[in-house]
Amino acid sequence: MKHDLLRFGLAITSALGLFAGKTPSTLAIFRSALTAIKLLGLFSLARYITRDGLRIICYHGFAVAEEYKFRSRLFIRKELFLRRIEYLQRKHFPILPLSAAVEALDQDRLPAGATVITMDDAWQGVYSVALPIIRELWIPVTLYVPTYYIEHPMPVFPVTLAYLFWRTKVLTVDMPRGLGTFRLDTEAGKAETLAQDLGGSLPPADRLEFLKETAKALAVPFDEIEKQQLFRVVDEQQLRHLADAGVDIQLHSHRHQWPLDDREKVEWEIVENRKFLERTVSHPLEHFCYPSGVYAPHQGEWLEALGVKSATTIEPGLNYVDTPRFILRRLMDGHPVSDIEFEAEITGFMEIVRALRERRLFSMLRRRFCRHRRPPARGPDPPADRDLAVSDRSRETPRPSHLLKAL
Ligand SMILES: [Zn+2]
Repeated sequence: MKHDLLRFGLAITSALGLFAGKTPSTLAIFRSALTAIKLLGLFSLARYITRDGLRIICYHGFAVAEEYKFRSRLFIRKELFLRRIEYLQRKHFPILPLSAAVEALDQDRLPAGATVITMDDAWQGVYSVALPIIRELWIPVTLYVPTYYIEHPMPVFPVTLAYLFWRTKVLTVDMPRGLGTFRLDTEAGKAETLAQDLGGSLPPADRLEFLKETAKALAVPFDEIEKQQLFRVVDEQQLRHLADAGVDIQLHSHRHQWPLDDREKVEWEIVENRKFLERTVSHPLEHFCYPSGVYAPHQGEWLEALGVKSATTIEPGLNYVDTPRFILRRLMDGHPVSDIEFEAEITGFMEIVRALRERRLFSMLRRRFCRHRRPPARGPDPPADRDLAVSDRSRETPRPSHLLKAL
């Protein structure tokens, strides 16, 4: 019976894997399959099975112009975010502040379907586009903030440079600083790699100058980029406004760099990042997000020694009481993720698909249904909603100050 079920499940996941290709037609089939699966009630069943899994959603920037056409996962339009929050609220997924959720996960007392919203990198649009929405909808958000580009204000070099190559219409470019002449139909990748390497080695002011020179060579108007505040992160005053408005500012390294085996550099990144953020933020800086999702399991011990309590990755999945706190999984959202795919992730259906693929469904089910609830790790159980503030405005719980601090 078990093997039959496993074979059946593997057949489904193989089919889903097959459908989840990149071509528009297979993607359309995949989405249609998900819609049918939802109609069969399997999303509801998945939500029930995965109800004690913590959902952590990952966003990055909010579009201030049309940069979402360039990187549709990195920069989202506000309409998408509004639709997602509306769905979570309508379907009663409680949205918790990260610190409260991690604490509840430790104590095995998360409310069913608990969800956390995180945003990486503190792009300008988080302040100008997302903050009014966050205030209006009254939702807790954690913002992971690297600090180098706040200390040295300029458009973020690697992304801006990639944008210049994406936007240009010229066929051949004579790159500045003697990098050479390149045909962009065949050598754009080579030209960009050389420019990325050179720019990364320059001090901030010269790096900005090099960007301007490259924009000129590629015939892209740099003043337009600057006017629209494209690819800028927030400044220190905006960061303070975000913190004052209740956004939970947390660690993301200083330079957005994260070596895997150099403990000294890792410590420097955290110490510098924290030192800078402490000028603005009064709450504890003890949650971290690995830059670009790069991490190694042994780094949890390093982070713990630095006073960090949790670290998030971009590994897809939900988080349970036995998920390592320094390898928390997240669900990446953005324009490439359709509504039905988002629903499949947030209900836990895709989590079950992953469990089937990795042949860990039965251990997952056993853990869900056959476990004994652990006693709280410390202190007595608080009343159900005392510090697990939810975004449901219909509740009449007074707005606790820590929720205000976490939006
Ligand atoms: Zn990042």
